[in-house]
Amino acid sequence: SKTNAALIERKNQAVAAGVGLVHPVFLDSAENATVKDVEGREYIDFAGGIAVLNTGHLHPKVKAAVAEQLEKLSHTCFMVMGYEPYVEVCEKINDLAVGSGPKKTALFTSGAEAVENAVKVARAHTGRTGVIAFGAAYHGRTLATLALNGKVAPYASGMGLMPGDVFRALYPCELHGVTTEDALASVERIFKFDAEPKDIAAIILEPVQGEGGFYVAPKEFMAGLRKLCDQYGIVLIADEVQTGAGRTGTFFAMEQMGVEPDITTFAKSIAGGFPLSGIVGKAEVMDSIAPGGLGGTYGGSPIACAAALGVFQAFEEEKLLERSRKVGETITSELKALAKDYPVIADVRGLGAMIAMEFFTKEGKPDSEMPGKILTKAREKGLILLSCGLYGNVVRILVPLTVPDEQLQKGLKIIRECVSELA
Ligand code: PMP
Repeated sequence: SKTNAALIERKNQAVAAGVGLVHPVFLDSAENATVKDVEGREYIDFAGGIAVLNTGHLHPKVKAAVAEQLEKLSHTCFMVMGYEPYVEVCEKINDLAVGSGPKKTALFTSGAEAVENAVKVARAHTGRTGVIAFGAAYHGRTLATLALNGKVAPYASGMGLMPGDVFRALYPCELHGVTTEDALASVERIFKFDAEPKDIAAIILEPVQGEGGFYVAPKEFMAGLRKLCDQYGIVLIADEVQTGAGRTGTFFAMEQMGVEPDITTFAKSIAGGFPLSGIVGKAEVMDSIAPGGLGGTYGGSPIACAAALGVFQAFEEEKLLERSRKVGETITSELKALAKDYPVIADVRGLGAMIAMEFFTKEGKPDSEMPGKILTKAREKGLILLSCGLYGNVVRILVPLTVPDEQLQKGLKIIRECVSELA
């Protein structure tokens, strides 16, 4: 019978080294918040495939929608011949996205592709090329998104310099000494040091930094960016690839940020485990590119769109936004209690059910070792966790919102045990 060790050995022989593996585990099956490996061992999944499984593994409504679609049509390429599910997803997203006026949507396959297309639209709309992005940001692994990322290793190591016209500002993070004023001043500094505002097409940011460490953008920061964008005719892009689809307690995190973005990117949990991404924004901005300039062979495939419609149905019928807030409160209160008992936890923060804890050494420096130890110990106890952060010193939770309470409690108990054994 198959073992994890044997499959890892085959992976090492067959798969390029650049494709890493956080946990030395090969899965055989999964349901909701439970995953089962090839050796029959079960784990509670607090990683959710990196924020893809807000509705859990193989949600019955997603499965049913996909199964039904599979009997009808798997592919046409939407640029060749249309199909209703694509349009239906766009209509839904136009309703759900933040922004008061008429909106339009385009669908793609991966988050990075959505980000690249958001920048393309901003460039076409403004006739400018520059983009301002932020330290510790993560937007993807394609060339242009690597240029936008605010972290070099491991994403761009050994790959040389990235495509130009990207300028980097500071993301506010009081814990690491960057105030909202500092962050806004760093944007203004770009206008002095690097480029005129009339050459900047877009400012792109995550309303809550994901890979960067689950830092929440303060409302005043968002207001400041919106003001600069309005003043200079710059497109504000909210990258909601990780924050979207209900993770933060509202369908999009921007609902809680007090300002409207011009373009929003989405992916990951939008289709409950199937590859679908997209951009939604103000109709007059979104229509800046002529027919043929947006698309892709698989973008918005019928199967992925059916899955997304299943996800929307699950959110409506199972009140998953409320659930997200509830799950978030449960996690936050447990982790805050834990931080009281163990001062190595320097901070517990997040928005809705997007919660993380950050580890410092006794000397008060980011502790990059601790998350790895916690991930290993937690896995041994049957819980799958993920780390993140510019310094790799953050443990994040992206549990399915559909997780049964009992399982959520069990997972949190394992986290407590791990911290108590390692702190
Ligand atoms: N943007 C953000 C905010 C993300 O978190 C990610 C993925 N972690 C991406 C973009 C890239 O998405 P993908 O891996 O689907 O290309």
